[in-house]
Amino acid sequence: MAVNASVEYDYPPLPSYTLTPRPPLLAPIPDNVLALILPIVAYWGLSMVYHLIDIYDLFPQYRLHTPAEVLKRNKVSRWDVVRDVILQQVIQTLAGMSVSYFDVEYIGREEYDIAVWARRLRFAQKAIPRLLAVFGVDALGLSRSLSQNGHAILAGVLAGGQYPGVTRSFVLDSGIEAVVPAFTSWELSMASFIYWCFIPAVQFTVGVFIVDTWQYFLHRAMHLNRWLYVTFHSRHHRLYVPYAFGALYNHPVEGFLLDTAGAGIAFLATRMTNRQSMWFFTCSTIKTVDDHCGYAFPWDPLQHFTHNNAAYHDIHHQSWGIKTNFSQPFFTFWDRLFNTQWEGDVKLRYERSREAAQKKLDQDASSAAASSSEENSYEGPVMSTDAPADSNARARLRRKTVTLSPHVDGLKGVNHGVTSSVLQA
Ligand SMILES: [Zn+2]
Ligand SMILES: [Zn+2]
Repeated sequence: MAVNASVEYDYPPLPSYTLTPRPPLLAPIPDNVLALILPIVAYWGLSMVYHLIDIYDLFPQYRLHTPAEVLKRNKVSRWDVVRDVILQQVIQTLAGMSVSYFDVEYIGREEYDIAVWARRLRFAQKAIPRLLAVFGVDALGLSRSLSQNGHAILAGVLAGGQYPGVTRSFVLDSGIEAVVPAFTSWELSMASFIYWCFIPAVQFTVGVFIVDTWQYFLHRAMHLNRWLYVTFHSRHHRLYVPYAFGALYNHPVEGFLLDTAGAGIAFLATRMTNRQSMWFFTCSTIKTVDDHCGYAFPWDPLQHFTHNNAAYHDIHHQSWGIKTNFSQPFFTFWDRLFNTQWEGDVKLRYERSREAAQKKLDQDASSAAASSSEENSYEGPVMSTDAPADSNARARLRRKTVTLSPHVDGLKGVNHGVTSSVLQA
C-alpha cells in the first residue's frame, strides 16, 4: 500500500536513468565524422549549383560582376582554387577527427535533465508571492479564491508553486511505494521546450557570436599586419571577383586558423553535441559559400537574414574596399562597432571595373584576330618543311583563336545589369 511521502519531498523526485551509447545517424559513419563530412558535401553541392548558374549565365541581372571580370580580374585559376580548397578541407577533417574521434556520446539522460529544468521552474515559482507583494498584490489570497473557482494550476503558480493535488506514486529506496509530489503538465512542457529548443538555440547563437568575433579580429589583424597579409591572407584576395567555391580558397595556415579553429572553439565552448555541430558547421559553411557566390539574389533568404551577404563581402574583395567590411560570415555588428563598414555609393566603382575588364577582353580579342589574319597570310611558308617548330606554335595559336572568338561575342551580347539597388551596401 502506498504511503504519503509528500512531507519528505519538498520537490518532485528526479527519475533514475541508464546511459547507452548514441547510435550513429548514418551508420556506420560515427556522428563526429559525419559532422565533418556534411559541411564538405554542402560546400561542393551549393557551389556546383552556383557554378552552373555562372557558366550558363542564368541570372545575368543579379550578377555582381560580369563574366568579362571573372576572366580578366582574378589572379588565380579555378583549378588552383579547387586544389587549395580540397587541401583545406582535408586538414579540417583530420584536425576535427583528432579532437573528437574517440569521444562517445550517450543517451538516456534526457528525461532526468528535463526533470531538473522542471525543478528549477518549481523553485523559481517560490519567488512569485514575494514579488507580487512588492506591487501590493496578495498572491496567497488571490490563489485561494482562484482555487475555489476551479483554477487549480493558476492558484498553484500564485501560491509559489504549491500543487497539493498533483502527486504520483513512487518507489522509495527502501522499496516502499509512496505518494510523492509530481510536476504539473505545464512545468514539464516548458522544461521540455527549454531542454530541446531554448538551450540549443542559445548554444547556436553563442556559437555564431564566437565565430563572428573570432573571424572579425583575426581577419582584421591579417589586413593590419603586413607580414600576415603578404604571407597568408593575400591568397584569398587573389579573387577580386569571388565565386562560390572560392569561399574557402585560403592559405592552409589561414584556413586552419580562421575557419577550422574558429568553428572548433565555438563547438567546444558551447558544448554542442555532434548532432548540433552537424547543423552548426553546415550552416556556417553554407553562409560562407553564399557570401562569395557573386550574385545578389532577391529571393535568397540568406542574403536578407542579415546585412552580411554577397554584396557586402564583395566590397571587401575590391581593391578600394579591402580595408572595410571585415565581418564574416553571419552579422556585421563588429564592423559597425569599430566603424570599419564601407560607407557610400559603390555603383560607379563597379561600373569602372566592369568597363576596364571588358576593354581588356576586347583588346585580347582584336589582337588574337590580328595574329590570326597575319598567320593566314603566312600560311604557305609556315606549312613548309623548313620550320616544323614554327608550324606547331602557329597551329596552337590558331586553335586558341578559334575557341576564344565565339565566347567573346557571347559576353558582348548579354546585358549584365548590375543594378544600383543590388550594389547599395
Ligand atoms: Zn580580407
Ligand atoms: Zn572572401
